Amino acid sequence: MIERYAGVAPKGDLQLLGLLSRHFRGRSFLHVNSTRAGGGVAEILARMVPIMRDLGLKVRWEVIEGDVRFFEITKRIHNAIQGSPQELTPEMWAYHLEVNRRNAQKIDLEADFVFIHDPQPVPLGKFRKGGRWVWRCHVDASAPQEAVCEGLRPYFGLYDAAVFSVPKFARAMGVPEYIVLPSIDPLSEKNRQLSPQELQQVAQRFQIPQDRPVILQVSRFDRFKDPLGVIEAYRMVKKYNDCVLVLAGSPATDDPEGEAVLREVEEHAGQDEDIKILLLPPFSDLEINALQRLATVVLQKSLKEGFGLTVAEAMWKGKPVIGGAVGGIPHQIVHGVNGFLVHTVEGAAFRIRQFLNDPQMLQQMGQRAREHVRANFLITRQVRDYLCLCLALENEGKTIIEIL
Ligand code: UDP
Repeated sequence: MIERYAGVAPKGDLQLLGLLSRHFRGRSFLHVNSTRAGGGVAEILARMVPIMRDLGLKVRWEVIEGDVRFFEITKRIHNAIQGSPQELTPEMWAYHLEVNRRNAQKIDLEADFVFIHDPQPVPLGKFRKGGRWVWRCHVDASAPQEAVCEGLRPYFGLYDAAVFSVPKFARAMGVPEYIVLPSIDPLSEKNRQLSPQELQQVAQRFQIPQDRPVILQVSRFDRFKDPLGVIEAYRMVKKYNDCVLVLAGSPATDDPEGEAVLREVEEHAGQDEDIKILLLPPFSDLEINALQRLATVVLQKSLKEGFGLTVAEAMWKGKPVIGGAVGGIPHQIVHGVNGFLVHTVEGAAFRIRQFLNDPQMLQQMGQRAREHVRANFLITRQVRDYLCLCLALENEGKTIIEIL
């Protein structure tokens, strides 16, 4: 499987992966998160787990279970980490712990290296057995509410390390902190090359015009993704340039707010037939792939963002992205080189018009976008980084010379 990346991913990453996987062959790895579908974490794990297995590692992926109350609480925790004020009572924290306690009884937590993803399963650290434990935070923790930090603090010391997506998110947690930028799989159904027929079929199915510019945002229906701001920007553009707006999203089992946000978006879109709101079932990878390729301009106008996998996905397809200057997005978009960073609705509208009026610039920036992703954001690099982290954890206190 890994050989298939030759000629696609950087050679150095593949060589290092070869060395690291020989070192770790037969060792056990466990990833735990809170959903198998919807959102970037599930997206990465679905691809990373088979790649790690193919490298000869013993890897499991477990998903914690919870009821509606649990996911309402964890969504509040998520929102508070991303800076929005939320009420979190002692009873809620107790329930968060209790649900994790029940999960700890059901899930086999034994492994040499355990990666706990995001705040939903963070209390599992209390029930850790052997091995080295890492808390992997994917959310935008650049300006969290103090109260949520207090609620989470008792758990941090239970881990051997914490991993954040960008340096701005790292906090003084009292454990070693590492930065690992997320990534996309160029060979997945979401990102592989598509035939003209496949593109055509998706265009027909969703009535995406191919003779008019198409503006696209792919995101869960979440207020931090600013879907209403996207509609506003489109309306500003529409006064001068003919175009169609496509907002594509699907539900995530650990995100209970999606339906309410979808209703707000539908209401805001009103009767405009040129706004297409597509509610896609989970695992619509081929469809998302095609939509990103069919689009003229791709937006990711987030107000808060962990990394923003959708940005790298579109860039890999040769589309320069207009993205909110938050979270991991500025690590992907080099402003004015392979896309544009924006801070306002007006800024987004201005940049959309710039692209629509200058197809040559659009194409050049798109090519640079693809190469930027190739060099920095392919999954082979991320697996390499995780294995390097494991090497560091198992050799704590040793110098690099001693390790080698
Ligand atoms: N995604 C999807 N279907 C949708 C909306 C999103 O498959 O309808 C995928 C998207 O392609 C990306 C991931 O979900 O791979 C979203 O990751 P991102 O980091 O952009 O945001 P998150 O949802 O994790 O906040």
